[in-house]
Amino acid sequence: MSVRVIAIDGPAGSGKSSVARALATALGWSFLDTGAMYRAVTVEALRQGVDVHDVTAMGELAREVDVTTLPRVSVNGRDVEDEIRTETVNDAVSIVAANALVRHQMVRRQREFAGAQPLGTVVEGRDITTVVFPNATLKVFLTASLEERARRRGEEGEASVARRDVADSTREASPLRQAHDALVLDTTGREVGDAVEEIMEWLKHKTLS
Ligand code: C5P
Repeated sequence: MSVRVIAIDGPAGSGKSSVARALATALGWSFLDTGAMYRAVTVEALRQGVDVHDVTAMGELAREVDVTTLPRVSVNGRDVEDEIRTETVNDAVSIVAANALVRHQMVRRQREFAGAQPLGTVVEGRDITTVVFPNATLKVFLTASLEERARRRGEEGEASVARRDVADSTREASPLRQAHDALVLDTTGREVGDAVEEIMEWLKHKTLS
C-alpha cells in the first residue's frame, strides 16, 4: 500500500488516544481518532431524535453527515467536542458502532482521510488493524488492566468501561480483536512517552527490514 499508516487498536482506556496523538506529533504525521467519529454521529442522532437502534435511519444519517475530528470534533460544521463524552453518548455509541451501515460510511471516510495525508497517519480505534488498514505499515494493539483503564476514563467508571468492552468485542460487525500480526503493548503503569518510544523503535525495525 502506498499510504503510510500506523494502526492502533485496543479497548477503552488502553491509552490509544494519548499514545497515538503523541506518536503522530513525534513523527510529524496526521492523527485520526476514529472513536470520536462514531461519537460525533451518535451526538447528531440524539440531537435529531433519530432512534439509534434504527439500523436504516442511522445508516442514512452516517452517509449524509459531515464529520471532522481536527482541529476539534464537529458535525455539519457544529463543534461537538464538549458533547461527545457524556454518559448518554457513552451508553449509545456502542449501539451506533455495531451498525454495519454506519461502519461502512465511517471506514470509507477513514481511508479517504489517510489517503489524503502527505506524510502518514496514526489511526486509532477498534477495527483499524483488522478491517480498515489490514496492510498498515505497523499494527499495534494496546492493552491495560481494567482497573487502570477505568481510572483513566475518570467519571465513566469501571462498570461502563467493562460494558463497552463486552459490546465492542462481541458484536457481529468488526468486533474489537487483536490482529494476528499486531504488536502488543501493555500500557499499565507506563508513561505515554515511554509507549511512544517503544512504538518508534518498532517502526524503525519495520522500515529497515
Ligand atoms: O475510543 P472511544 O472510546 O472514543 O470509542 C467510542 C466507541 O466507538 C467505542 O466504544 C466503540 O463502540 C466505537 N468504535 C468502534 N470502532 C472504532 C472506534 C470506536 O466501534 N474504530
